[in-house]
Amino acid sequence: MFGRIVDLGREVLRPVFQRSFFIACTASVFSIGCSLTDPPNVESPEPPFHQQVAAVRQGLSREIRSEAMVGNVEFSQLQGLSALEILSLSNAQVSDSIADTLASLVELKQLRLEKTHVDDRLAKVIGRLSKLTTINLPNSGISDEGIEKWPSLSNLVLLRIGSPNLSDAALETIAKMSSLRFLHLIDVSISDAGLKQLHGMPQMESFYLDGGNVTDSGLTELIQALPKLHFHRDQQHIPNDPRTDSHRKR
Ligand SMILES: [Zn+2]
Repeated sequence: MFGRIVDLGREVLRPVFQRSFFIACTASVFSIGCSLTDPPNVESPEPPFHQQVAAVRQGLSREIRSEAMVGNVEFSQLQGLSALEILSLSNAQVSDSIADTLASLVELKQLRLEKTHVDDRLAKVIGRLSKLTTINLPNSGISDEGIEKWPSLSNLVLLRIGSPNLSDAALETIAKMSSLRFLHLIDVSISDAGLKQLHGMPQMESFYLDGGNVTDSGLTELIQALPKLHFHRDQQHIPNDPRTDSHRKR
């Protein structure tokens, strides 16, 4: 399962300029319980982190993808890397002292910090990176207050976030994200009251919910309010979802 999640993150962070491909992959990202076939992994081994940083600095690349351990010292190499558009780190173990460096990545479109405990200070920095289309922070500690400014990210299409500190109030904020089409919430303390906030988001294409305190009736109301929504609860379709038929079981 973990390997699959890593693969999902890679798909999330493909360049957004390949728009149709991005949308297709985004759909597959949110299709854990569905029938989509994984593409063969033909990627070559990743260059070391510092080489990827150098390539961006030399104008040879606009992305950094690393599964290596990245601490505060390594992360500081990104200071002023304004050409960077994609940052995908599987194993960044950094503190909020990276805030200034993160703030300097002004062209960033896609941000994935898989294992990082992103806090509210970093969340506020992220809220000022106006080019972001994708935020992928499955193991954060962000609170409802931390994402208050994120609706100003007018290009944000995909949000994947986990945190024990997000509640129904976070869904009030998320409901203001007018360009958001793909949402994945992981182990957040939301209830049916929060779920209702999403009823007013007809642009939403998929919503995956892992954990939470919602009821079957709350979920049924959601898929009735948004009949085109591709919804997964704990990686499966719910029993009365008419879209279930469009997927084979694995
Ligand atoms: Zn599905």
